[in-house]
Amino acid sequence: MRKWKVETLAVHAGAEIDVATGAVTPPVHLSTTFERQPDGSYPHGYVYTRTNNPNREALENALAALEGGEAAACFASGSAAAAAVFRTLKPGDHVVAPDDLYHGITKLLKQVFMPWGLHVSFVDTSDVDTVRGAWQDTTRLLWLETPSNPLLKISDVVALSELAHSRGALLTCDATWTPPTVQSALALGADLVMHSTTKYLAGHSDVLGGAVIAKRAAGAFETIRTLQNLEGAVPSPFDCWLVLRSLRTLPYRMRAHCENAGKVAAFLEAQPQVERVHYPGLTSHPGHEVAQKQMQNFGGMLSFEVVGGEAAAIRVAANVELFARGTSLGGVESLIEHRASIEGPESTTPKGLLRVSVGLEHPDDLIDDLAAALQQTQRTV
Ligand SMILES: *Cc1c(COP(=O)(O)O)cnc(C)c1O
Repeated sequence: MRKWKVETLAVHAGAEIDVATGAVTPPVHLSTTFERQPDGSYPHGYVYTRTNNPNREALENALAALEGGEAAACFASGSAAAAAVFRTLKPGDHVVAPDDLYHGITKLLKQVFMPWGLHVSFVDTSDVDTVRGAWQDTTRLLWLETPSNPLLKISDVVALSELAHSRGALLTCDATWTPPTVQSALALGADLVMHSTTKYLAGHSDVLGGAVIAKRAAGAFETIRTLQNLEGAVPSPFDCWLVLRSLRTLPYRMRAHCENAGKVAAFLEAQPQVERVHYPGLTSHPGHEVAQKQMQNFGGMLSFEVVGGEAAAIRVAANVELFARGTSLGGVESLIEHRASIEGPESTTPKGLLRVSVGLEHPDDLIDDLAAALQQTQRTV
């Protein structure tokens, strides 16, 4: 394959004209089983759809190509993909993970994998020395999420991958917030990237899925492939078809998500009702320099803290009209969320924080909506 630029790759990766019909858009292969020849062979390589399916294989090939990995495995959700990564470890192994982390992964570790026998240190991974200090002889995995969720702290992937590799551990990045064209974690040194494809990769808030993409097909990824097949937390062929269809527009969607988020962040930073804006594209962000070094763009996610704390933040979220109040992210529509409420009683997120997934509406309309909500809030508190 010629070395295509990412927009071209996104349109063509995993695409083949259907040999049976000439269809340019791939058919959905719902069949769970595939015919065996009289000599016992499977000429197309498919046996049973849990093990492999043409739609899933096309999506996996496209994801591997876009992330620059040798192989990819798709799962029924991002959580199932993350669980497969943790299951490559053994009870007694130690994991270093961020203290500011997608709360579902925190809960997965605390409620499932720590009782199973993993030891986990949750530390500030935006400081390399803190990670070094947390290291143990049994540390086998460094898990990163950068920007982190919901504080958008930036961790230095190059420096941390050197640390992990010098101690014989693997580095996995949860790249859900940073799809290809925003950050290429494998190129920066990560061994695995994990995605909730539910978010930007699918991009339309209408399909749940996950993926693990590996720099090398050998090693830990072989265990992940085995778990995918034997445990069977696989996505349906139609779900794979939907995600692959969405990848076709990913670079253009991400360009607009990032541009809009930059404008919304700059607007919010100038507002007297806003205490702090967390967005790595702002020069005021403590991780801005590292972000500039390792990110191609600053992403479509941001959070901000409202003057007046929890009550004011909840009122701002109640007063917006264009933004939908909801969890999740990465869809075409903008979402706003009072994060501490959804994270529950163990949450350490500032109570006045609102998290925003900036969608593909016109940025002026988004800014007008936030401006009106902030003003209305100021009048009523
Ligand atoms: C949503 C999300 C997940 C979990 O993915 P699901 O598809 O909901 O299981 C993991 N990490 C991050 C950063 C997410 O936003």
